[in-house]
Amino acid sequence: MTAWFDTHCHPYMAKNSVAEQVERALVAGVGEMVIVGVDLDTSEEAIEIACLYEGVYAAVGVHPNESEDLPIEAIRDLAAHPKVVAIGETGIDLYRDRVSIDKQETAFRAQIALAKETGKALIVHGRDAHPEVKRILKSEGPPDRFVMHCFLGTPDDGRDYIELGAYLSLAGPVTFTNAPELRDAVSELPLESMVVETDSPFLSPHPFRGKPNEPARVALVGEAIAHIKRVDASVVAETTTANARHLFGIEP
Ligand SMILES: [Zn+2]
Repeated sequence: MTAWFDTHCHPYMAKNSVAEQVERALVAGVGEMVIVGVDLDTSEEAIEIACLYEGVYAAVGVHPNESEDLPIEAIRDLAAHPKVVAIGETGIDLYRDRVSIDKQETAFRAQIALAKETGKALIVHGRDAHPEVKRILKSEGPPDRFVMHCFLGTPDDGRDYIELGAYLSLAGPVTFTNAPELRDAVSELPLESMVVETDSPFLSPHPFRGKPNEPARVALVGEAIAHIKRVDASVVAETTTANARHLFGIEP
């Protein structure tokens, strides 16, 4: 079976060592992962980790909740590293509004521009903010390759993003029984537009909900998609891994 590709994780935030997490992921059939920075320090850390392992890549950027400061020149320098496959995560978060929407929007627009300038993919975080994220993506013009990370929305939200050229990245919530809208979106939308992620150490899938998450559990997300779409898990692994490689511009 094709190995899984965890398109979004923050193993440096977990208590367990990064080395243990990466090794457990390999044993669990996860062949590739992208470690995502949320500010300048963690973006540097993501690159350092990526340099230690084959199949481990980095994303550099400023999370909306960290966008009080926007060290865009330093992020641009980091983006030139060969292990960097994406800019982000960036976007709009109206769930935790500790940074003003104006500052979040400025940071989001700057990182959309940086993705286009560098030719890297863009990782978009949108929480309780689909109208704002769609408005800004449309007004800037989305980059060629981008992903809605931890997609949580209706089938119509998903269709809007796919129309803009997005991949939808599914995470632990797709395994929760209390997320019927999301399961409808997975059922109705094409697998060709989907990738999988853990967002670890957050959002552990069922039956580990509430416990620290790690990249090894991404298969549980893929298996939930397989169950909803009534296809074999191997089909989900093969398609989502191919999609992730295309998203991040990685040669197979
Ligand atoms: Zn994240």
